[in-house]
Amino acid sequence: MNKLPSKLEIIRQRIEKACIAAGRQVSEVSLLAVSKRHPANKIFILNELGVSDFGENQLQEALPKLEELEYLDLQWHFIGTIQSNKTQDIARHFQWVQSVDREKILRRLDRQRPVSSGSLNVCLQVNIDQEPQKAGATSEQILQLAALAEGLDNIRLRGLMAIPQLTDNRQQQHDSFRKVRSLFEELKNFGHDIDTLSMGMSADLEIAIAEGSTMVRVGTDLLGSRDI
Ligand SMILES: *Cc1c(COP(=O)(O)O)cnc(C)c1O
Repeated sequence: MNKLPSKLEIIRQRIEKACIAAGRQVSEVSLLAVSKRHPANKIFILNELGVSDFGENQLQEALPKLEELEYLDLQWHFIGTIQSNKTQDIARHFQWVQSVDREKILRRLDRQRPVSSGSLNVCLQVNIDQEPQKAGATSEQILQLAALAEGLDNIRLRGLMAIPQLTDNRQQQHDSFRKVRSLFEELKNFGHDIDTLSMGMSADLEIAIAEGSTMVRVGTDLLGSRDI
């Protein structure tokens, strides 16, 4: 049985409820379907149901799916760790990159983005809880990367992405998302014209929306446990 329509409906209701609770418009929060380790046919079905944005974190796995679904009008977001030797394919095939956390990668993406494709949308990834094993830049580095991004012709800085520390402590979850939000506001105060605060996943999207998220990235609760 195809469970995608009902799972999508539940996610949409969760987003709507969280927006209402936070006094926000539902249109302020978009859904990124994280399709990593799920086959192309599920992406096709979700697109039929109105989902247009999909997130992948491994290039080798993503490229065949992107190719198979090329005829659809989809927005592909790269959300995984980026090795230097992968930037060319990422810059060519994705519309968004949400996991930029160092200067070298930012400069390569700018250089390798085909001009004919238009600017590459970039979110800088912040390691908001300063976890040593986790990707993402520090707040100080983010300010420098944002300044650099503004000067690059083929990059359009859109905002920030974060994956906070895993915890069951709700207060701590709120605090982490609030820190990302305040860095986002700081960037705006510096004059950056940004609109995307990508935070919140299956387990914590309500808290992220309460703290200002404009894009939730949902995998498990939408597509089920990852099967390929
Ligand atoms: C896998 C992944 C998600 C989705 O996580 P779920 O808990 O399955 O919803 C979101 N963001 C990033 C960066 C991911 O790698």
